Amino acid sequence: MRSPPEDFWTTTLALTAPASLVLVVFAVAHQVSWLWAIVAIAATGLCTGWLVRRHLERLAQHAARLEALAKGDPPNALATSQEEGPTSPLAEAVAKLERAMPERAQPMASEAALESIVDALPYAILQLDSDERIVRANTAARALFGSDLEDKPLVAYLRDPSTLDAVAEALSGRHPEATEARLAGSVERALRVRVVPLPRPLGTAPAALVAIADVTAVQQAERMRRDFVANVSHELRTPLATLTGFIETLQGPARDDAEARKRFLGIMDAQTQRMTRIVKDLLSLSKIEELEHSPPASYADIGKTLQTTLDSLALAAKAKNTALDVHIADIMPPVRGDSDQLAQVFQNLVDNAIKYGRSGGTVRVRAAVAARLPAGFAPRAEAYVEITVADDGEGIPREHLPRLTERFYRVDAGRSRDMGGTGLGLAIVKHIVNRHRGALDIASEIGKGTIFSVYLPIAPAAAQNARATGT
Ligand code: ADP
Repeated sequence: MRSPPEDFWTTTLALTAPASLVLVVFAVAHQVSWLWAIVAIAATGLCTGWLVRRHLERLAQHAARLEALAKGDPPNALATSQEEGPTSPLAEAVAKLERAMPERAQPMASEAALESIVDALPYAILQLDSDERIVRANTAARALFGSDLEDKPLVAYLRDPSTLDAVAEALSGRHPEATEARLAGSVERALRVRVVPLPRPLGTAPAALVAIADVTAVQQAERMRRDFVANVSHELRTPLATLTGFIETLQGPARDDAEARKRFLGIMDAQTQRMTRIVKDLLSLSKIEELEHSPPASYADIGKTLQTTLDSLALAAKAKNTALDVHIADIMPPVRGDSDQLAQVFQNLVDNAIKYGRSGGTVRVRAAVAARLPAGFAPRAEAYVEITVADDGEGIPREHLPRLTERFYRVDAGRSRDMGGTGLGLAIVKHIVNRHRGALDIASEIGKGTIFSVYLPIAPAAAQNARATGT
């Protein structure tokens, strides 16, 4: 037997009580017999109970259907409106609501889908009301301007006059041109802003949509490209001008001067070699950049690669009377690396240390498992090897350090050129280290010298051994 609905007993008792009381009073006053009164009370109770139970059950069913509608669950079967009795208007209302639900749910579902799409867009999107206040903002907008944008005036975030003019234009129904704006902050951001009027159903206030693209990175890349072309042209123009000058001199005034011809040809040879070095370094840089996103698949023996490079530089060191003080740890775990590229890194760093170090000084080269990593570097491997190249030269002023790895950046351009430098060596080093998922650290003290440290991730299996043996 089903348990009675909630409130069944209290409702039945409350409804039966007055009639029962009257019958008891009549029985006490001997107007009716007690037997008759008890039978009448029982009959009233049964009938009332049956009616109460029926209506309470129906009410519970309607409540459940309304709850399902509120949750957005589609009804299994539509409620019948043919119910009779006091609950019939309620049954009719629930049936109407259930019939209307699919039509209402459709626009609601497509609006929710649209909101998710707008939220996933990489552009910051702001919906403005007629007072230029933000009504809605997507995730990208919150990332750009901060949370809690709703109900704030746009001008609190974007003060660019041309953008504000565009908003006013859009609110008066026109389609303004896209504008460029700058957003102040720890890093200034360049924005491209497009404002469009929103469709305006009859009787509603004007509204506008602002779509903002962050073009900082694009503009930066464009500027770098322009600077790079200008730098390459400048670097090649100088030796070319020298060559042209000497060719003219050799064809004209110095045509019969054997002594001058010998000297000039020597200079022309040096300039040609310089151009060749620049072109070679540029080609090698572009090749490294092409591969930068795919880390090397082979393994490299750092100790061996480093030693071979140092041997090839022994003559250059001797020419400058520089001592090479080398210490390579006995156990050097292999790294995932391209030996040729790593040789280029060591070659550029040691060559620089000899070039910019003190004449008659010492270049110290060390290689071992890294005890620690540079500050701010987020490690991606279990363990790293560290190769340091330290010289005892003049050192590099602190303000130049962050830009040293930019292409053609030199502390002293004249000195670099005189020593046959192209200004591309450290850019090559940085890109090779990046490709190896490593780190480059530069520390320098004026008057004492400079230390370049390269960190390379140890191959995973070897990293475990290195940690276990404490090397
Ligand atoms: P370059 O061909 O001019 O040597 P690099 O890219 O190798 O180009 O180096 C860029 C600049 O960094 C150099 O011109 C020089 O000013 C500075 N530099 C590099 N290594 C050292 C060093 N060991 N000591 C002092 N300055 C250095």
